[in-house]
Order: sequence, then C-alpha cells, then structure tokens
Amino acid sequence: MRVRLILFLATLVGAGRAQTTTPVITPGSIVNAASYLINLAPGALATLYGSQLADGTPTIQTANGFPATAGGVTVSVNNVNAPLTYVSPTQINFQVPWETPVETPVPVVVTRDQIPSAAVTITLAAAEAPAMFLNDYTNGIAWVTGAQCAQTECAIQTGETYTLWANGLGPKNAPLQDGMPAVYSGSLTPLEVPGSPASCQLTIGGQTATVQYCGAAPGEIIDQVNFVYPSGVSIPFNIAGIDAALTIGSVTGNFRVPAPAAPDALAEQTLALLTQDEKLQLVEGAGGPVTNIIPLPKGAGGYIPGIPRLGIPNLYFNDGSVGVANDSQAPSTALPSAIASAASWDTNLAYSYGQVIGAEMKAWGMNVNLGGNVNLNREPRDGRTFEAKGEDPILAGKINAAHVKAIQDQQVVGCIKHYALNDQETGRTTANAIIDERAARETDLLAFEISMRDSNVQSVMCSYNLLNGTYACENSHLLDDILKGDWSFPGFVMSDWWATHSTVAAANAGLDQEQPDNQYFSGLESAIQSGQVAQSRLDNMVERILRALYATGAINSTGAVMPINTAADQAIAQQVEEQGAVLLKNAGNQLPLNPASITSIALIGSHADIGVLSGGGSAQVYPTGGAALNEGYPAVPGWAPVIWDPSSPMQAIQAMAPNAKVQFNSGSSASAAATLAASSTVAIVFVSQWTSEGMDMPSLNFTDVIHTTPIDQDGLVNAVAAANPHTIVVMENGGAQVMPWLSNVSAVLEAWFPGQRGGQAIANILFGAVNPSGKLPVTFPASVNDLPHPTIAAPDPPSSSAPFPVNYSEGLLVGYKWYDANNITPVFPFGFGLSYTTFSIANAALTNNLPAANPNFQITCDVTNTGTVAGAEVVQVYLGMPANLGEPPRRLVGWQKVALQPGAKQHVTIEVDENDSSHPMSWWNPTPGAWQVAPGTYTVYVGTSEAMADLTVAGTIQAGN
Ligand code: BGC
Repeated sequence: MRVRLILFLATLVGAGRAQTTTPVITPGSIVNAASYLINLAPGALATLYGSQLADGTPTIQTANGFPATAGGVTVSVNNVNAPLTYVSPTQINFQVPWETPVETPVPVVVTRDQIPSAAVTITLAAAEAPAMFLNDYTNGIAWVTGAQCAQTECAIQTGETYTLWANGLGPKNAPLQDGMPAVYSGSLTPLEVPGSPASCQLTIGGQTATVQYCGAAPGEIIDQVNFVYPSGVSIPFNIAGIDAALTIGSVTGNFRVPAPAAPDALAEQTLALLTQDEKLQLVEGAGGPVTNIIPLPKGAGGYIPGIPRLGIPNLYFNDGSVGVANDSQAPSTALPSAIASAASWDTNLAYSYGQVIGAEMKAWGMNVNLGGNVNLNREPRDGRTFEAKGEDPILAGKINAAHVKAIQDQQVVGCIKHYALNDQETGRTTANAIIDERAARETDLLAFEISMRDSNVQSVMCSYNLLNGTYACENSHLLDDILKGDWSFPGFVMSDWWATHSTVAAANAGLDQEQPDNQYFSGLESAIQSGQVAQSRLDNMVERILRALYATGAINSTGAVMPINTAADQAIAQQVEEQGAVLLKNAGNQLPLNPASITSIALIGSHADIGVLSGGGSAQVYPTGGAALNEGYPAVPGWAPVIWDPSSPMQAIQAMAPNAKVQFNSGSSASAAATLAASSTVAIVFVSQWTSEGMDMPSLNFTDVIHTTPIDQDGLVNAVAAANPHTIVVMENGGAQVMPWLSNVSAVLEAWFPGQRGGQAIANILFGAVNPSGKLPVTFPASVNDLPHPTIAAPDPPSSSAPFPVNYSEGLLVGYKWYDANNITPVFPFGFGLSYTTFSIANAALTNNLPAANPNFQITCDVTNTGTVAGAEVVQVYLGMPANLGEPPRRLVGWQKVALQPGAKQHVTIEVDENDSSHPMSWWNPTPGAWQVAPGTYTVYVGTSEAMADLTVAGTIQAGN
C-alpha cells in the first residue's frame, strides 16, 4: 500500500492553487479504489476524481483513526462524513461508511471550506465481491507482498507465505468501524462475516491456497489476506499471471496473481543474499574424508547444512536406484531391480516406480536422490547392471527419465549418474575409457542426454573413471562442452563419492559440488583469491544448486519424517516384477502350472523358502519389515551384507497350489536336491547371482560369491533336470547370464532381483495368475567369448593405482548391435520374451514424412491376441540407417506395449520423431559435431525382438540431401 500511496502523491506534486473554491466531482468517477470499478459496498475504500477538490495535498494523520476532515475537506455519503485516507485537488480516497444503505441511490458530496459540490449519486451493491489492489492493471494482476518482495516486483515461490491487499472482504467484528484502523497488537483481527463463521477461500490456478489470515489490515482501512502460495500451479505460456479467486462467504472475486517465478530468477535472487562463506558451504560436502567417514544425519550418504535465514533447507543426499537405499535408519520398500523396470518396457509403470522412490525419500526427510544410474550395460559382467536400465540408449534413457521425473515430482532433487562411461567396476577409479566422440555420443552419452532432457533432472553425478585421459569430474569436454553447453543442463554437477581430484581444474571444468567432503573444494576460496578460479564460477555453482532446489520444490523440504506407505508401494513393486520378469523358455507349455495336476513340488535353492535376493552396494535397500536373511560375511567381495528380501516364494507357491506337497531343499547338495526332485511332480530350481557395486562377475555363469563353500548352481540345475523332466528354473540376478543347462530344463523365468513382493509375483507368473510380458533389455550371449571383450580390462598389476586403458574398440556396437554386426547369434536377443498367449502383427505400414522440415515417420500395424489368455506384447520398431554411414545394422527407435484380451485386435501407431531427445534418425557427425539426418535409404523394421527372425520390413524411406 505504501508504494501505491506514494505513487498517488507523485502524480500530484506541483498541482497549483485552485482558481475557484467550489469543488467538482466528476460524474461517474466514484469507484472502488482497488478495482477501479463501480462495485462499492459499505466499508470499501473508494476513490473519487474531480477538480478543485482541495487546496493542496494535506498530510493525513492516522494515529487516532482516519479523520473525517483533512485540509478543510469532507466527503459525505448519504449525509454521513466518511473517513479520509488521501486528499488532493483532483482525487480523494475515502471509506464508504458502514451505515450506508445498499441497493438504493445515495448522494456523495465533497465540501471544501464549507462550500459543497454538487451531489453525485452512487448505489452500493448488497455484497461487494472481494477486489484486489492491482500491481499490473492491464492484466489484472494483484499486488502481492511477502518475503523478498516488499516492493512491486518479486519472484514468487511456491510454499512461501505472501499477502494480498484487498478491498471489500466485508465487515470486520462490529459493523461500525468508521475511521478506526485495526490496532495491531501482535494478533490480527480476523475476518468475521456477521451471522456466519468467518470464511475465506483462495484458489490459485485451481489449487487451494492455505489462508493464514483474512481480515483487516492493521492501520489501514483496507483488508489483507495472508496465504501460502500453493504448489502444482501450471504456468500458462501466453497469459500474464495465474487466475485466482477469493471467496468470502458466498461472494467470489476474481483476479490474477503473479505466476511462480522461474527457478532461475529465484536462484539469482537468493544468490545475491548469500555471504561468501554461505556460498562455499553449499558447494562442499559436509561428510568426513574417506579415511574418517563421519556418520551423517539421517544415515544419509551425503549432507550439506542449510541456511535457515534464507529458507535453504539441509540437503540430505541418499541413494535410491531400486528403492531408498539407507541403512537401518530408513528401511524402505525394496523394488525389483531397475533392470526389471526396463524389462517392462512400460514408461508409465516406470513412473510409478520412481514415484515410490521419490515419495519414500520425501517421507524419510531426504531431498536429493542419488539414483538414476543410466550407464549402458556395455559389459554384462559389471556388478551394477541391476541398478541400470540395459544396453540400449533409447530404452535405458526413456525408462531412466521416467524414474527421475517421478522422483522430482515428489519435490526431491533427482540425479543421473555416473557421468560418464562408468561401465565396469573393475578398477573403476582408475579406468580410462578410450572412446571416440561419435561412439560416445551415440551410446552412453545418448542415454544421459535422453534422461536429462526428458526428465528435466536437476543434478548429475560425474563418475570415478577417466575419459580419454581426464578424470570425469574435471573433464571440461564432458561437463562444460557437452552437458552444460550442447545440452543446456541448468542444474548442478556433483562428484561421485571421492571422485574429485583437484580444486582448480575441477571447478573450472564444471564441477559444482564436491561430495561427500571438501578435500579439494576447501581450497576454493584461496583459489578465488589468487585468481585461479573466478568468483563468477563459484556464484554459478551456487546458483545451479539453488536452482535445482527451486525447480523441484525441494527448497520447501523440512526434513520432517512421515510414515511411508509401504503397503501401497509394495503393490507397485509386485506389479513391476510381474510386468518385468521375462519368460525365456517354455518347452511344451510347461508353464503355467496347473495346481489340479500337481501333487508335489520340489523347491530348490537360493533360500526360496524364505526370500528373494537383492543387489548390493550403495543401491542396497534395507527392506521394510527387515531382511529375511543377511548373509555373506565374510566371503563377499562387495561391501554390504547380502540381503534376502522378505518375500517367500515357497509360501506364495503353496498358496497357489494348496493341495500340493511343497518341499524345500537348500541346493547345497545336488544329489539330495535331485532325490527330492525325482519324487516330485515338478521341480523349481531358484538360481541366483549376487552382484554389487565394487565388483564385476568373474564370468556370466551363475557363480556363488556368497558362501565360503560355493554352491555349484550349474551342476545343481543339471542334477535336478536329470532327475525330473519337469524342471523349471527361476533366475534371480542383475543382468545377462549364460545357462549351460538350458537345453535340459523345460522352462526358465528371468526374475531379476525381484524386490520384496517378488515371491508373490513369481508364483503368480508360474501359475498363470499373471501372464508374463517382460522383454529383455540386454542380450544374453552364448558365452563370454562372444562379448566384444572376453576379458575385462583391469589395472596391471591389479594393485596399480595408475590409470589403465579401457578401449571401447566396439565403438557403436554396444549390446545387440555387436551381435548383429558380427553375425553372432545370441541365446536370447534384446527385446525377446515369451508369453502364455500368442500374438500376430499384421498390416505393418509406414507413413514417411522424412522430407518434411521436422522429419518423422509412423508405423501402423494390427496386433491381435491369437491365443486363449489375456496378455501383452511389446511391438518394437527398429531402424536400419543408410549403408555407407558405418552404423550398426539396426537400432531401436520406438515401441508400444499392447495389452489384449484373447481374440482382441488393436490398431497400433508408433511415431518416430527426429525432434525427440533420442535423435532416432540421426548419426553424430564429428565434423561439424552435430546430429544429422544423412541422405540415403532407411529401412524400418517392426516385430517382437531385435533379431531378424522376429522382424518384418515395414518399408523403406529415402532421405534426400
Ligand atoms: C557410488 C554412487 C553412490 C555414492 C554414494 C558411490 O560409491 O558409485 O553411485 O551414489 O557412492 O553412496
């Protein structure tokens, strides 16, 4: 208000002494002072315009209420003198007396030095809709004040408290308050609507705002509304401001309020208020050095204290690729491994997966998630494949983006990692990935690019390894040229834990935050003082971190702990497993099992009596309800206990076949297991491969790394299969495996690490309550000898801490592309997975818009469920690039998962758009360094896996120059 009144004053300075003393009210000029409309009611602040209204602009004293006379001027309404708030020769502001009758014409007269003006009549409304004082009259945007916006312009932030200045909220307390400003005595006088309880509802952009106060403005005739700006308001592109409505009793006033400010503006505004020490605080992890890890609050993996005076919360960084990974301080829902989410090929379900992680992070009071592992599964023996999303950049990028977007939608900062080319654990801190720009851009980096663009992720974790000779966390090509340059990443880069190697080089290359401690960034201030790092670089680091908090809403996090809804979250865990488990073999329709024809079941191996296996390392989730079993000390090469999630396959199987005798054998003795199998109707062998960060698999065979005396699982399966022709294998593992016993068994289900409802999901699939529909996101080769690198590159000698080369000599040929280009037939191709029903894909057709300015094409086809049970098929579209480009034979460019009842048919359209973040039709042309659609012939395939046997050619597209 103050500013407004000052503006009024400014317009009148210099008004000369009037020639005549008879005041004149301009007819029709008596208006509501807030809206400038003729909607007046008792108690409202009104404005009237005219000439010769006063002799100058007298100062109005309000200490004892607003006066009825100022500078010899009075305003009477229906013969009652009105309280005055502003008087000048051309304008007077006054309060319409409360006792003025409504809906009947009443006279208004200005009297100056006893000389009255001609009367002008007004008619008051029975009830005036609330009117807001406006800041932007053209667009009807209300005046809003609050923290950091005391003046006209301010950057509105959701979750913060602001004040609206209003006119016409109604009578306050006793109806007659002429000229008596509300006295502020620490508590404001709330609005009371006579005869009914106070009621004041505010919606902004359709979202309900919490109204903290609604009533008289102390010391003013006007009213005020204190409210919390709600989140979830969508910001219109083409309209200034957000539509808002204030309802008092049954009367609603409509207006607009400023849109929440862009995160950049908020970050810039806050940055300006920070001291240098506070800036440094935000870029340095507060954990202890590697030699002296201090326990961090909440058991978080990383911590940075907040800055309460500016509302910057404490930052709690917590892992969470497959559920919230925290030790016993925050037990959380153990989801199936992330690779299972990728195997569902369902981005909506992947969003639900991320939602569980985000919601549980938030419930535990954590606000920065460290999931989002999207390193491509180039090396299938990598111990972290279970955390990531497979070998194809587009599938991995899209699934990862869905996870991260969902996490951020829970007001938790998301992260994608490990940037970049961190594709093996062997020597991970000294591995030097040697790869050319084109191969990098079209493989690993593409997965990051898609993840980043599609999710709007706000943090990126740079990796341990080197890339082409430079550590990732001080690699300016990775961080500055590509991430922040080409991709315009607006958020911040944090180091993987102790992956920082320098102060000046890292800061100048684009690292924004050292984690988990400040071994190097503690030297930032002196580097700034000596001119080695610019102050603007530190400011930019901080602005990026603040931006991430504003963009996600994590700025409003309080650290408060709330209960997690593990029951609902476990239902999602089960759904993901049911959609992501892949049926690899089903000879003679061994599955689904029919309980009516089974009298006994031998259940063998992998603690299938009590639980299912989970993956280890920093992604390890400590499941709600506690582990079914912790084991593995001290034989495990990793660094976390081996946790068996509390979901018993045996119990779930027994429930599906209540009349069958279900017996368990641990599998530690193959002959004892075989004996049990021989006397059972069917044998189900659970084989498992524990994998973890910090280790790679010695081979692709199921290898027991848990027990001091390892169980020979391949031998176990063969012995059981020899004893019972109805042997089914269920695999719990994190990626591709070889199965030397495959031809001896009748069915194989890839269950991945199935999460804490895995037992139930597996039983549902085995007995047909759920029809499997997962498809492999990785190729299963026949042997490690078929891999691009039969031996994993390693430091030489193994104890060496010097960087060693990891040659990405396969270039573009990651995953299935290697097998296709080299005519190697894998055991199970990428995209493969069986169902209990059959599908046909017919009438595949291609619409070619490639020559258009925005190149795209569409594949249409009819998918029919030709079997007898409901099921889902993933229709996959692959693209063969022009022959002379040196591209792999084909690449995945689109897909759709189609659920169909038996006999049902669906016409499917899959659109492939070059403007998508995945650059589906382009190659990375190193000169000039850009994605380009090359001239030539493109072949479009449609089918059910990437193998030619499962594909048909839908058509070809000719692209011109
Ligand atoms: C892992 C990261 C993890 C971090 C914090 C590192 O060892 O590589 O993925 O986020 O630790 O736990």
